[in-house]
Amino acid sequence: MAEVVESDALRTLHRVFGYDAFRGEQESIIEHVVAGGDAVVLMPTGGGKSLCYQIPALVRPGTGVVVSPLIALMQDQVDALRALGVRAGFMNSTQDFDERRVVEAELLAGELDVLYLAPERLRLDTTLNLLSRAKISVFAIDEAHCVAQWGHDFRPDYLALSVLGERWPDVPRIALTATATDATHREITQRLAMPDAKHFVASFDRPNIQYRIVPKSDPKKQLLTFLKEEHDGDAGIVYCLSRKSVEQVADFLSAHGVEAVPYHAGLDGGTRARHQSRFLREDGLVVVATIAFGMGIDKPDVRFVAHLDLPKSVEGYYQETGRAGRDGLPSTAWMAYGLQDVVQQRKLIQSGEGDEAFRRRSAAHLDAMLALCETAACRRAQLLKYFGQDPAAAGCGNCDTCLTPPETWDGTVAAQKVLSTVVRLKRERGQKFGTGQIVDILLGRKTAKVIQFDHDQLSVFGIGEELSEAEWRGVVRQLLAQSLIAVEGEYGTLVLTEDSASVLGRQREVPLRKEPKKPAGSARSAPR
Ligand code: ADP
Ligand code: ZN
Repeated sequence: MAEVVESDALRTLHRVFGYDAFRGEQESIIEHVVAGGDAVVLMPTGGGKSLCYQIPALVRPGTGVVVSPLIALMQDQVDALRALGVRAGFMNSTQDFDERRVVEAELLAGELDVLYLAPERLRLDTTLNLLSRAKISVFAIDEAHCVAQWGHDFRPDYLALSVLGERWPDVPRIALTATATDATHREITQRLAMPDAKHFVASFDRPNIQYRIVPKSDPKKQLLTFLKEEHDGDAGIVYCLSRKSVEQVADFLSAHGVEAVPYHAGLDGGTRARHQSRFLREDGLVVVATIAFGMGIDKPDVRFVAHLDLPKSVEGYYQETGRAGRDGLPSTAWMAYGLQDVVQQRKLIQSGEGDEAFRRRSAAHLDAMLALCETAACRRAQLLKYFGQDPAAAGCGNCDTCLTPPETWDGTVAAQKVLSTVVRLKRERGQKFGTGQIVDILLGRKTAKVIQFDHDQLSVFGIGEELSEAEWRGVVRQLLAQSLIAVEGEYGTLVLTEDSASVLGRQREVPLRKEPKKPAGSARSAPR
């Protein structure tokens, strides 16, 4: 009988890492790179990207150089490898001269299997010259989407990495990312100059994550209810947009018996490191964070990721929610989303820095995110389609829209009422009115501000009494999401768009989602 010969890769997997078998495409990726080929790897968070370069680095002669933007994690990664007996080191700006000299000496003596490098170091001639004097087995470019200007995480230092292929034509390169729109994928391949690379695209489905997006009313309370009812004592991450709301939410949760700590760039490094390491080592801690938290953090039992503010893009949402459930056990991606989110993000884009092209890209990112929030179809299907993958035809059965299909209704007349009111208010020279005033007018409320501007004299005054305030806000939110209306200026004034005319002229219908009914006993009923 023929003896089964273990490949070097499989032997390394067993002996060094102690795992029984490769997962998914790991084996074909590793074989391809070990044989000297270039690879572009798109694999979701938790898919097992690290082994795809660590094993080639061990199997091929020389040192594997790993380019990573996650400076704060390099020490941890190196420690973890050393604990397995791998000769690992790193070079970044946190080291002093002597520490760097030691690593350089090890590299030149051929005593390193793996060397982690920050991308900004590779812009330096000194670094490139140092690497030229060493034997390199493979270049791994981690978080490769950072090279994509179209993406949400662009880092200029990554652009310099195209030099690697020119200077080391014989050293295989492997670029890895968990972000995988077609546009980003193309940019990675192009900007890293890897035309001959083989592409490995894993499925981006995370079947154990349940996706849910609820209308925002009293977000802190809604979050607390969600945590108490479904994730009592579980570890999780809550994302907020601003440092201030991070602090407030962490305080609120702590005051209500949930162990929670804040994490954002305004905290000093020591506090941040302490909160991060508590999250990694303790059971059931909740971290309330800005997006600064989580990249590269490998904690398998994160049971939920909650968003209290709308992420700027589907890619961001997918990456952040992807930090839940790496262990494959049931987990929840929960988000509260409301009209104010849309207004705020549209304003941010308009008043933000960047040229016109940047604004257009940001707006396109936001539109895709809004489409995900407002869809009446399967959320998972929408996510997978965004990443160019084919979802199951029947719906996933594990997202809110599959579990409780939302009702839709013909919102054409309601949309016309909103738009007509906006048209009438436009005639008030110099005055700016946001959603609140529009809704008050539609509902026929004689508020001080309505009286002050004679808005009770308008023909549209009181024409919207068939819907509640919450429902009108839902209509405005969905019109904003569909770009049938827009916001302008710092006060969030509502204005018409190019497409508004087709609604006012009855040339198109406006299907809308019904605002879901709240279960009894939950927070106030009027979404903000
Ligand atoms: P990614 O970088 O894609 O997010 P990691 O490389 O951090 O994922 O791997 C995620 C987790 O899965 C890690 O805890 C890792 O040790 C584990 N893992 C990866 N490959 C295997 C395998 N073949 N068998 C068992 N566990 C694995
Ligand atoms: Zn679904």
